[in-house]
Amino acid sequence: MSFEIRDRDLLARIGKLETKSGVIETPLLLPVINPTVQLIMPRIMQEEFGCRALITNAYIVKKHFEEEAVEKGIHDFLDFKGLVVTDSGAYQILVYGDVEVTPEEIVRYQEEINADIATILDVPTGWTTSKQQAQHTVNETLKRARELAKIKTRDDIAWVGPVQGGKHLDLVARSARKIGTLPFQIHALGSPTSVMEQYLFVVLADMILTAKKNLPLERPLHLFGAGHPFMFALAIALGCDLFDSAAYAIYARKERYMTEYGTTRLDELEYFPCSCPACNKNDPQSVRAMPKIEKQKMLAKHNLHASFSELRRIKQTIIEGRLWEHLELRAHGHPALFKALKNLKKHADYLEKQSPVTKKSGLFFFSSLGLIRPEVVRHKDRLFGRYSPPKEAEVLVLLPQTQTKPFHKSREQRRALRRVGQELGDRMRRVHVCTYAAPFGVTPRELDEVYPLSQYEIATPLDDKTIEYVAKQVSRYIVTTGYKGVILLQDVKVWKGKMAKACRRACEKKKISLTMFSPEKPWDGRVLKDLAMAIEKVL
Ligand SMILES: [Zn+2]
Repeated sequence: MSFEIRDRDLLARIGKLETKSGVIETPLLLPVINPTVQLIMPRIMQEEFGCRALITNAYIVKKHFEEEAVEKGIHDFLDFKGLVVTDSGAYQILVYGDVEVTPEEIVRYQEEINADIATILDVPTGWTTSKQQAQHTVNETLKRARELAKIKTRDDIAWVGPVQGGKHLDLVARSARKIGTLPFQIHALGSPTSVMEQYLFVVLADMILTAKKNLPLERPLHLFGAGHPFMFALAIALGCDLFDSAAYAIYARKERYMTEYGTTRLDELEYFPCSCPACNKNDPQSVRAMPKIEKQKMLAKHNLHASFSELRRIKQTIIEGRLWEHLELRAHGHPALFKALKNLKKHADYLEKQSPVTKKSGLFFFSSLGLIRPEVVRHKDRLFGRYSPPKEAEVLVLLPQTQTKPFHKSREQRRALRRVGQELGDRMRRVHVCTYAAPFGVTPRELDEVYPLSQYEIATPLDDKTIEYVAKQVSRYIVTTGYKGVILLQDVKVWKGKMAKACRRACEKKKISLTMFSPEKPWDGRVLKDLAMAIEKVL
């Protein structure tokens, strides 16, 4: 089995996963098939939804259809020609406390029914578990993971090694680190179902990133029990590759209609905000009047369509390098998601390290939330870690950002530099011109064409947090460099005096001169002449 990554954005990846029944593309949603009660038959999943992989529970299959599934093989038994993933009954342990099967039996059984991807019988941590109990689930799962090598007899099945630990992040880290050293092809993050039901997305994000930081990154990660399209963007952006959804059917039975931004009850809908084949043929009123099973089938079909289309949308944003923008859009669907996105601030350095350096697209910044983005963090790290100003530079001239980018090619800055250049002649090489701009901060003239410093758009007026961030970066830049003096051309309307304050404080600290200009119109001809004279004074 191989996993080849073809495209990346944030921690998300589009990958090709090769198995004995063919190649599938990730991120992938596996609809859960319950062979005892099924709203949409596997064959229909394939024919109507183009579904190439699904997941079923080997424990339930064994319990109800033991011999039949072995004789036919799981593919024929389900009447499905794609890829079949089997889960082991761990979820049943969580719900019923125990299962009537040993870890060894369930491994053997998954081999006998010819699953493509199979799962050891892990012990789910659950949500209300004490630390001690959680520790036990981690240890027991690891013990069973180690035993797999002795039990299995085939090499063509890919095995899933689940990570446990629940909300105890230190246990998640240990579980991931240890299981990552064993020869599993895929990993899974266990028991986030209740976390998701209670909308604890901050905890979920912490769990996912803790697992990611400790697992081999080249192996796909399955997020167990995460089947609602409105949180796919978050989970995928954090590096989850596989999902399973029982939700499409569970919600349908409760007459709930899933969308990429939340859930609605059928009886609250006057219109279907969707044009999938199921919604196109009906309106909410006629669906409400249907016999119960027909109604549930219709809702299950829509729910599945909504899930698959969100997944395709996300994949397209990965290709375009616009996953962050999509994530912000989805985060506005529910405050709990928004909170999780804000909370990614504490993981910003990790996100930066794992995100691709260049993209095909420019970036859109809507608010200070964008300050967490890898590109902003990366610019800061480069500026203060690797960059040094030109050797001859003695005076720092800070110009405000312009509408046009790159800044030094804008009409305003070209005119200003020409004017100053006329006055200063070849002393101009001792002058270092930088732009202070949101959200990146100090943008040295010689770098302002480097991606993404001129490939972005930001919404104005800037919010206070963004202004503060940029002012802080400017101040830090002055303090960590060695100029003789600083000339600041203010754009008071945009920066509200915050830039002046930051520069004043930094120059006092460095004991260097500061000259500020605060004209009504920053690019006025007379101001530019004064600017040149001020520079001359410092030189
Ligand atoms: Zn629909």
